[in-house]
Amino acid sequence: MEILTLGSTGPNVKLIQSLLRRIGYDPGPVDGSFGPRTRQAVIDFQRDNGLTPDGIIGPLTWNEFERLLLGYATYTVRAGDTLYGIARKFYTTVSAIQTANPGINPNLLRIGQRIIVPYGIDVVFTDIDYTYEIMERQIRALKVRYPFLDVTTLEKKSVMGKNLFVIRLGTGPNEVSYNASHHANEWITTTLLMKFVENFAKAYSTGGRLGNYNIGDIWNKSSIYIVPMVNPDGVDLVNYWPNYSDPAYIQAARLNKTGLPLPRVWKANIRGADLNLNYPAEWQREKDLELEQGITGPAPRDYGGEAPLTEPESAGMYDFTRARNFRLVIAYHTQGEVIYYTFQNLQPAESADIARLFSRVSGYVVSENPGEASYAGYKDWFIQDFRRPGFTIEVGRGVNPVPISQFPTIYRQNEDILLLGALV
Ligand SMILES: [Zn+2]
Repeated sequence: MEILTLGSTGPNVKLIQSLLRRIGYDPGPVDGSFGPRTRQAVIDFQRDNGLTPDGIIGPLTWNEFERLLLGYATYTVRAGDTLYGIARKFYTTVSAIQTANPGINPNLLRIGQRIIVPYGIDVVFTDIDYTYEIMERQIRALKVRYPFLDVTTLEKKSVMGKNLFVIRLGTGPNEVSYNASHHANEWITTTLLMKFVENFAKAYSTGGRLGNYNIGDIWNKSSIYIVPMVNPDGVDLVNYWPNYSDPAYIQAARLNKTGLPLPRVWKANIRGADLNLNYPAEWQREKDLELEQGITGPAPRDYGGEAPLTEPESAGMYDFTRARNFRLVIAYHTQGEVIYYTFQNLQPAESADIARLFSRVSGYVVSENPGEASYAGYKDWFIQDFRRPGFTIEVGRGVNPVPISQFPTIYRQNEDILLLGALV
């Protein structure tokens, strides 16, 4: 674990600031910069938790934070305990405990029985920057809280060996798939899908609704396969480098000759291949366009690789998509508030209707153009090979990376799309 102290910066500082605020401390703004106020909040936290109050987040303090980030305690039942009493002690609900402990009988608690007690705070924070590590921890936390979630990984891993996670919501026969962060500096799309997973799982576990939708019905009708981070190495490069010392990051950073900071320009995977130009859908035409623009090798963006599917991340998505029977897919990107649904006129007629429906619930514009990648994108390939509805949706406004302050708006605009995608 990275040791954090006065002067530290980066996504882990942001994460801890966000956590401290959530549990009642005052670290100042969640800005990723470890200043005197954050230090004082850490000292207060350490004092309250029996740790040496030195204001430095070393291994022992990290352990305490880690427990809170994972969002649960393991509790050993004592004489006289009731689920209600335990729930009160941990500021949570009986229903949350029952969800995390399938089959638990509230009338038959055994002394010495160990149960999982989820805390009352959400595990997906939406005011922070993502890294692979932060997402991976959240997935573990969600799985403890909602054991019914089906979490797997693609067969292939990223270039640097990170897992490409798949979270399945629902058990129904209507299979759809949503993915995020093909492009590194568009990682806010990961936040969108992770928050959707949490809200969906929470609503399902309480028999509740999300918006106007009965989640139990969607759960039984559909299976939503979510790949929240297609390009984890790229996301880590833009958000965490130079805190990582791995030479792959250093090598990649050297490809940036724009003079602009990496988060501004970097879309590719760690080898400098643009994953959303690496699918076998008019790939050669895409290559010709690249050559016209003078892009002849690995670069922060717009280089589609030496051949289709040379990259493990796109090849992994290809295999995964071919192995299933998706009725519809959505690839999330930033930015522009636009919905793309065409490719070489190969899309089915209903694609336009669905795009208009998505537009109505989100306020986004429907574009007849094929979109960001004219060729060789994931949705292009899906439409070409399956002749089913495939969409690229560009969320947010301004320039990449879209600031996290836009997240509440982005979530509000897209929740209905994510629910309707499983029903249309
Ligand atoms: Zn993109």
